[in-house]
Amino acid sequence: MKKQPAIFLDRDDTLNIDVSYTYKVSDFDWVRGAPEALKLFSKVGLDVFIVTNQGGIGRGLYAESDMHHFNDHLIAEAAALGGHIKDIAFCPHHPEAVISTLRTPCLCRKPGHQMITRLAEKWSVDLATSVMIGDRDSDVAAGRAAGCHAYLFDGTDLHELAKHVINQHFSNLRVPACR
Ligand SMILES: [Zn+2]
Repeated sequence: MKKQPAIFLDRDDTLNIDVSYTYKVSDFDWVRGAPEALKLFSKVGLDVFIVTNQGGIGRGLYAESDMHHFNDHLIAEAAALGGHIKDIAFCPHHPEAVISTLRTPCLCRKPGHQMITRLAEKWSVDLATSVMIGDRDSDVAAGRAAGCHAYLFDGTDLHELAKHVINQHFSNLRVPACR
């Protein structure tokens, strides 16, 4: 299988507004331009993955099942607006985790690269031509550590950044014409 480029996205404050350790579906709200960005990536044929630090699990603030419930909601909301999220990787670890098995140094918690590299292996992603986008320096560091291009999102409008990223790196991909 030929490796393909992909888009890796942070979740909280990149796709959905972060209310701090966000996990309640009732708190779900899009960051400006996020659904349009997801739709655009799907339209040009790029696979989209979410890579999210979920230290709140290790800290005992919510359960892994709560996170999956939230993620499923996000995926469904995106799909309803034309965006496709192929897979999600999460890191439940935290240096101050109350759950001892999750209080461990790991390579998956961003700025570690392992969530990205594991998804790449699973889905045959070409990291060198892929892009990581997130609102924190740790997102950029993780993307670079994985060998991707990386962009810091300033929180204003993800659709604008998505258009810029496609112009910079995927100008060979074309939005299919309407018919
Ligand atoms: Zn981890």
